[in-house]
Amino acid sequence: MPAGRYAPSPSGDLHVGNLRTAVLAWLFARSTGRDFVLRVDDLDRARPGAAERQLGDLATLGLDWDGPVLWQSTRTDAHRDAIRSLVDAGRTFECFCTRREILEAPAAPHHPPGSYPGTCRDLTPAEREERRRERPAAIRLRSAVDTWTAHDLLHGAFTGPVDDLVLQRGDGVAAYNLTVVLDDAHQGVDQVVRGDDLLPSTPRQAHLATLLDLPVPQYVHVPLALNVEGARLAKRDGAVTLAELTARGIDALALIGRSLGFTGATPQEWLDEFDPARLPREPWIVVPPDAPNTAG
Ligand code: GLU
Repeated sequence: MPAGRYAPSPSGDLHVGNLRTAVLAWLFARSTGRDFVLRVDDLDRARPGAAERQLGDLATLGLDWDGPVLWQSTRTDAHRDAIRSLVDAGRTFECFCTRREILEAPAAPHHPPGSYPGTCRDLTPAEREERRRERPAAIRLRSAVDTWTAHDLLHGAFTGPVDDLVLQRGDGVAAYNLTVVLDDAHQGVDQVVRGDDLLPSTPRQAHLATLLDLPVPQYVHVPLALNVEGARLAKRDGAVTLAELTARGIDALALIGRSLGFTGATPQEWLDEFDPARLPREPWIVVPPDAPNTAG
């Protein structure tokens, strides 16, 4: 069964913006007859207890999901195998650059600042040998394209750069752009609904899926929640998590429903009203009850 998904990183509690994205992912999946699966992206930035609280919050909102939750940390063998297959196919190279070296090097033509300048792409075996003594190598894709076009239900065709992106970090951990592609395919995910901050990474991911002979999912990048200053909503903005809002007598579910223009009371009821064409296209500005500018 094809599936939609929500894949939080368990780095802390979800805020209302994250919860709204999860609700949208659920609505997109359920309204199109898809399964809805969850994955905990716990390879990185995992804080003890956070994943359990995140899953608890999703259930409290009335979202349900199919099958067991996939913990990304159980997938390291599959990640390694995929990297190995790209290495064996000659599609990678070892990179010894630090973040700083990359930022300080002139950008490669046609690529935005910060993208990989190609420093280690063509090291000789002797140079590589020498650099291996300095630090463990990251593995980068030897990209054969400059750009790739991904298709998004809300944004249409979206073309973005594909540089020599990192597949495996210097510490041996598989990189997000690769794991997301592998794990989505593994879970049968053919619809990826997530915040539109990830739209710029999507061409890289769609390209990797194609290289790995995996199906490219339908992408739906939904507007983010912002604070009153127009920055991405964050914990420091005040009471923004389900627990914090509930403690102040605020019904987070109703808040999310209103922000999406629904009149029903639950996600199940919103399914009947849900129309992607009427989805707000602007960011959702959230004014937390104890935000500094509303205090007093
Ligand atoms: N765990 C990633 C995040 O929360 C997943 C992003 C995605 O949906 O692809 O940023």
